[in-house]
Amino acid sequence: MSSGEFERSASERRESLKELLAQARGCARCTELAATRKTVVFGAGNADAELMFVGEAPGASEDEQGLPFVGRAGQLLNTLLQEIGLARDQVFICNVLKCRPPGNRDPQPIEIDNCQEYLLRQVELIQPTAICTLGNFSTKLLRGDPTGITRLHGQPEVIVLGVRAVRLYPIYHPAAALYTPRMLETLREDFHRLPELLALGPPEQPPAEEVPELPETAEPAGGEHGLAATDALASGPPVQAAAGSEPDQLGLF
Ligand code: URA
Repeated sequence: MSSGEFERSASERRESLKELLAQARGCARCTELAATRKTVVFGAGNADAELMFVGEAPGASEDEQGLPFVGRAGQLLNTLLQEIGLARDQVFICNVLKCRPPGNRDPQPIEIDNCQEYLLRQVELIQPTAICTLGNFSTKLLRGDPTGITRLHGQPEVIVLGVRAVRLYPIYHPAAALYTPRMLETLREDFHRLPELLALGPPEQPPAEEVPELPETAEPAGGEHGLAATDALASGPPVQAAAGSEPDQLGLF
């Protein structure tokens, strides 16, 4: 991220999030997913949330409604949130993939790759204190490491995403816990430690990146200097918002 995101107000960041939503709605990077999806499930919740949840990919109900975690796994997530005194409009919930894989198959590596800029930009704009990864896909992606959720669940760590440090907290995916009582018990125990984690506040931030002084003959902005990975989204091919897509349907608070 550009370190400028630090200084932007919540309402400015929220507007950028809406622009990102419009981009995602027109996204056709994954040919199969773009052809088979009913909606793009961008994410929903508080655009200035302290706590963000990242699942795997939309299922059938999410694809129908355009909102994340609205099926059975979502009901469990709602219950767990309630148990720790949080409501969905206080957090932001999204997925690694914004489109439903046909037949709920696993996300493919190329799809994760295609979609990750949306997630990283969401993190950059929302600026959460903590990100709770639900299951293997989001945990592996955000840690940049193949270690699985069975080894990592319930163990918070500080990671740097873009230029910001964030508390990462991997837990089991609610869908996996639906049919396995032992896993549900563990998920609940891990979940109930979230308030403690949030009480720690934001982690110490890495020192602001020094902006290199440009030599007098250097190109103006837009050249190589300081090009964040996410700039590729902003400068990528133009994407159209889907017909009838209203930014207010984003489910942002
Ligand atoms: N499972 C997910 O990973 N995400 C959803 O949105 C729903 C189910």
